[in-house]
Amino acid sequence: MLVHTICIFNPAQEVKLTMAARIYNFNPGPAALPLPVLEQVKEEFLDFKGSGMSVSEVSHRSPLFEEVLNDAVARFKRLLKLPDDFKILFLQGGASTQFFMVPMNLLPNGSSADYINTGSWAKKAIKEAEILKKSCNVIASSEDKNYSYIPKGFSIDPSAAYVHFTSNNTIEGTQWASFPETGGVPLVSDMSSDMLCKPFNPAPFGLIYAGAQKNLGPAGVTVVIIRDDMLARVPKDIPTMLRYTTHSEKNSLYNTPPCVAIYIVQLVLKWIEDSVGGLEAMERRNREKADLLYGFMDAADFYRPTAAKDSRSLMNVTFRLADENLEKKFIAEASQSGLGGLKGHRSVGGCRASIYNAIDLKAVQSLVDFMKAFVDTNG
Ligand SMILES: *Cc1c(COP(=O)(O)O)cnc(C)c1O
Repeated sequence: MLVHTICIFNPAQEVKLTMAARIYNFNPGPAALPLPVLEQVKEEFLDFKGSGMSVSEVSHRSPLFEEVLNDAVARFKRLLKLPDDFKILFLQGGASTQFFMVPMNLLPNGSSADYINTGSWAKKAIKEAEILKKSCNVIASSEDKNYSYIPKGFSIDPSAAYVHFTSNNTIEGTQWASFPETGGVPLVSDMSSDMLCKPFNPAPFGLIYAGAQKNLGPAGVTVVIIRDDMLARVPKDIPTMLRYTTHSEKNSLYNTPPCVAIYIVQLVLKWIEDSVGGLEAMERRNREKADLLYGFMDAADFYRPTAAKDSRSLMNVTFRLADENLEKKFIAEASQSGLGGLKGHRSVGGCRASIYNAIDLKAVQSLVDFMKAFVDTNG
């Protein structure tokens, strides 16, 4: 049994220390954070770097906070090996706000953009562009097969303002193994659920966005990586807060940013750089985890991954039980054994194990051990 609570009562100080053991957390988002990050947050939450204040109590314009912000920017640039013409912004409103900010800022009237529909989030991005009455062409879709694969063999309009795609489809469990070739048309990607899971070449990207709560940190901040030539497109006749230029010109400090969320993202970046050893090491870790889980399921016919083999996600492993009637029991018993968050998204059902960066091999091994034992008693 993994979940237990130890309470130590110290009558001398009247301090109740609670040490709660943690579960293996396969939640899709908000999701597990690296334990060393949470421990550091706990450690310095009352007195941040000797200031006598919590990081949530200091001014966002103080050198103390600016150091956090600038360190997060610098680490992003190093981890992604970003050329100098990219800016990192920390915004609010979630990835869902980017669905309309992208066409509002980057798609001038009279031009059109290409969109690839690989799942529910991609579809929402398309819908927001349409609400703005922007011209968007859906050049490929996998909706015909419940979004179980990543489309191939589509052609891109060479005059498109950008090509929008969702790099990892959180709900359907698919991921682009390599990114679309566009012949120079800027790529725009929603990387909310796989940002920093592996290295990639940033050069073809005009803009990348990600809500932090899957793979980067807590909810409340959205990271936007934008290239200078995209900033040059931003029109002046949209509200100040909705213009990328407003935030790039002020280093994300035009208004009060979500300071605590940015601070935790900074610690996660530090963990990836200094403890994991960068994105190549991160990818090795992620592949090892995914291979273990998919490999186990492929070897038996009890569990069935839902994504096509060449489109499987390293981050969100979606699967059904051969006997779907057993799924409820599977999820409930897993939860009783300290394995949480395995229920599939309500729109698709089934099961999903989200194995983001913060999940280690031990957690996935424990899941596989539980899955084996479940076959033994129910197979
Ligand atoms: C979770 C998610 C979103 C929505 O993010 P919010 O921050 O809740 O707006 C968008 N796209 C993808 C790929 C997601 O996984």
